[in-house]
Amino acid sequence: MDDPPILFVIRSLSRSKRFASYYATQHAEGMKNPQLSRRKFIRHSAVAAVSFPFVSSLGGAAEDPARKLGFALVGLGNLSTGQLAPALQRTQHCRLTAIVTGTPSKIPVWKERYNISDKNIYSYDTMEQMADNPDIDVVYVVTPNGLHGEHSIKAAKAGKHVFCEKPMEISVEKCEQMIAAAKKAGRMLGVGYRCQYEPNHLECRRLASEKVFGELKSIEGGFSRSITATEWRVKKALAGGGPLMDVGIYALQTCRFVSGREPLEVSAKFGPITEPEKFGEVEQSVEWEMIFPGGLKTKCHTNYERSDSNDFTVTAEKGTFGLNPAYNYNGGRGTRSDGEKINLPTVNQFAAEMDDFAQCIMMKKPSKVSGEEGLRDVKIMMAIYESARTGKPVKLANL
Ligand code: NAD
Repeated sequence: MDDPPILFVIRSLSRSKRFASYYATQHAEGMKNPQLSRRKFIRHSAVAAVSFPFVSSLGGAAEDPARKLGFALVGLGNLSTGQLAPALQRTQHCRLTAIVTGTPSKIPVWKERYNISDKNIYSYDTMEQMADNPDIDVVYVVTPNGLHGEHSIKAAKAGKHVFCEKPMEISVEKCEQMIAAAKKAGRMLGVGYRCQYEPNHLECRRLASEKVFGELKSIEGGFSRSITATEWRVKKALAGGGPLMDVGIYALQTCRFVSGREPLEVSAKFGPITEPEKFGEVEQSVEWEMIFPGGLKTKCHTNYERSDSNDFTVTAEKGTFGLNPAYNYNGGRGTRSDGEKINLPTVNQFAAEMDDFAQCIMMKKPSKVSGEEGLRDVKIMMAIYESARTGKPVKLANL
């Protein structure tokens, strides 16, 4: 097998002085911290390096690994402003070169703050013109969920690699169209599953895969937040659904990512609607159970009422482990039933996901957060909604 991506990154970067700040910081912290020895660091990294079938459309010689890829942010809302643009400044392999916005008043601030030239500023209607722009390698779609397909497909048609926020889209068909568009253009498609880069999530995955506490029995957890009635998040056409599509997806991802398995069946039920003026189009809360191979059962919940859950607990034959908080931008931390803490030095998850995507492009390696990975979650969420609507379990096949 090829090098696990992280080892490849280390090798490539060790030729570059810029290795100093990001991965090396993590490594140095690891040396200071007995919880993250070099051996463990490599092991965590290797856990992250899930093997994937090679994507033939990405074939050909690898590019110069020292080149920084130009990123265009599409949609300059809270996530782009508060997290992604700052994170891009902390990457080793990416640079913010372009913006796409429907709000002209945002342009001067972004231009000045990130030194973006006029020729690299687009509206949603002019994205096709990116085809002529060599400053843009990757288009990162950060608009409301129901617009991800439209913007991703425009970017792929312009010949750009596409990174798209979660959830990938609001229907299976849209996700399939996105995958087809990227494939047709011979470009990569990735989804913003930042927790797959968070060291404490990787540690939980290791505890599960190495059966440190024996066979997995159950995973329970949730993620919830409050919301205002004016957000696009309560409009079905833009959001696709309520808290499940927005934050419940993290709990779903955890069950799949930590166990390394795909669910066979889901059962779900919606909670009561106590704020009908807000929740006329999307659910206010939902809880769901999944059955996985090997007898693993999971139970998750999410709501838009209050921030009262942000955690998961894995129960195995000989003990438990989990994170609380699990999904914060500044990382997760948790405990194990043997008394050890799960508190590895965290990384900037957004910088890590973008650097990894850039390296996958440069090295012509498939991404672990591929469009197919995003599609699997959307298929499962559709089954959760079907079960909640019908009151019957829904079997899942061909994930
Ligand atoms: P936001 O409302 O703050 O920003 C959305 C942006 O899209 C705004 O700039 C808005 O002007 C633009 N937009 C374009 N067309 C629009 C339309 N028709 N209606 C409304 N807005 C429109 O939202 P956000 O919190 O930045 O979320 C954007 C995406 O990022 C969502 O898909 C969300 O799920 C995802 N997200 C991911 C994380 C994460 O941790 N990975 C965190 C927050 C949001």
